[in-house]
Amino acid sequence: MGVDVLTKCIHLEKESRENFYGAVSFPIFQTATFAHPSVGNSTGYDYSRLQNPTREHLEKMVAALENGVDALAFSSGMAAITSLMELFRPGDHLIADTDLYGGTVRLFDNISEKNGIEVTKIDCSPENVRKCIKDNTKAIYIETPTNPMMNVIDITALSEIAKSRGIWLIVDNTFLSPYFQNPLDLGADIVVHSGTKYLGGHNDTLAGFLVTSDVSISEKLRFIIKTTGAGLAPFDSWLILRGIKTLGVRMEKAQENAFEIVHWLKEQEEVLKVIYPGLETHPGYEVMRKQSRGFGAMITFEVTSKEFALGILKNVRLIQFAESLGGVETLITYPVTQTHADVPKKLLDKNGINERVLRLSVGIEAGRDLIAEFERVFEKVREELLDREES
Ligand SMILES: *Cc1c(COP(=O)(O)O)cnc(C)c1O
Repeated sequence: MGVDVLTKCIHLEKESRENFYGAVSFPIFQTATFAHPSVGNSTGYDYSRLQNPTREHLEKMVAALENGVDALAFSSGMAAITSLMELFRPGDHLIADTDLYGGTVRLFDNISEKNGIEVTKIDCSPENVRKCIKDNTKAIYIETPTNPMMNVIDITALSEIAKSRGIWLIVDNTFLSPYFQNPLDLGADIVVHSGTKYLGGHNDTLAGFLVTSDVSISEKLRFIIKTTGAGLAPFDSWLILRGIKTLGVRMEKAQENAFEIVHWLKEQEEVLKVIYPGLETHPGYEVMRKQSRGFGAMITFEVTSKEFALGILKNVRLIQFAESLGGVETLITYPVTQTHADVPKKLLDKNGINERVLRLSVGIEAGRDLIAEFERVFEKVREELLDREES
């Protein structure tokens, strides 16, 4: 038994301190290249595109948190997914869930297709996936819970199918972070993270990760990062390292706030639907309980009209109307015009993403203040809509 995940966020099991004067905070090695002691000798580092000590320390940290053999740090989540797609060649086929981060859909539709990789988008239930596997299928690509509709996918069930067919299961674990969920432990082959979100946690740095439990995949990815060059810079690596130290306490507090907000929203007349996998009524609740240690802090809700949704966005103050998630600040997003603007209309309709749907990334402010903000905003929107009716 290893240490608790709260401790893992702060300490690597084997930390080397001897070279750095006992520095408690890992140093930033702001260097592009490394001098060689002699011909044929290396300090272990040659050039920062290949590897840099700060990035390496971060990668070890993320690998430890995901129980992987290796993690690679990229300049953004999309850089990580773009590099991941270099594992495939023209003629390969992928199965992807219909409800994915909008940027991932844009990548698959516009870049991967052009490169000859065919992507079939389906609801990734085990039955559907089994039916869609073809001779050239190489991988299944999912997020769970999905963005923004919070559908829960059974990782173990899919990993069993993937293993039986000799293909990879790839899981984007951004929404729960390694604090709440470890897909590799459930049989996934590769885990994706937008480190910009919970791992960094402060809405101040872009980063992305690929983590694997398979040495042969890790070797391929090491070759790709060295060759294509989207590795994370030393200073940004350090910022993410600093963010990770508080990952556990942030996740706990954000989840506690999320539950408070979910209960408040459910009481409001203008809220038609609250989608949060921590609700026992959520269809994915039992699977979540089995495969994760928490439910996260992402809430999607639908209000009675587009006008009410726009009214909320106009009147928020403490809560900010901004894309992104996973930071200490509570953010509200309008998926139809922001994160999912480039997702085809047909797919949006199918997933139930309409003009009445809002997505919340709950931060770590005092729950009481967030509720007070919602009370003020809802009151204001009610008044405004009433005034409009009367005039
Ligand atoms: C944000 C996000 C990404 C993309 O990451 P960037 O760091 O913004 O490039 C990928 N997947 C999910 C689930 C995300 O939320």
